[in-house]
Amino acid sequence: MGDHVHVRLSQGLSVSADGELIEHSRCRCGATFTKVFDADSGKPEGPAPS
Ligand SMILES: [Zn+2]
Repeated sequence: MGDHVHVRLSQGLSVSADGELIEHSRCRCGATFTKVFDADSGKPEGPAPS
């Protein structure tokens, strides 16, 4: 133990109310992970306040 490296097995994807893509994954040890992909990043939309 201690040096356990989590293996992130993908459990599926979902989309939050804010439009963010969320990836759910789980390790065999029981640990769970969520990874959020910001749908807005790199996609400038609308006028920038200046
Ligand atoms: Zn683990």
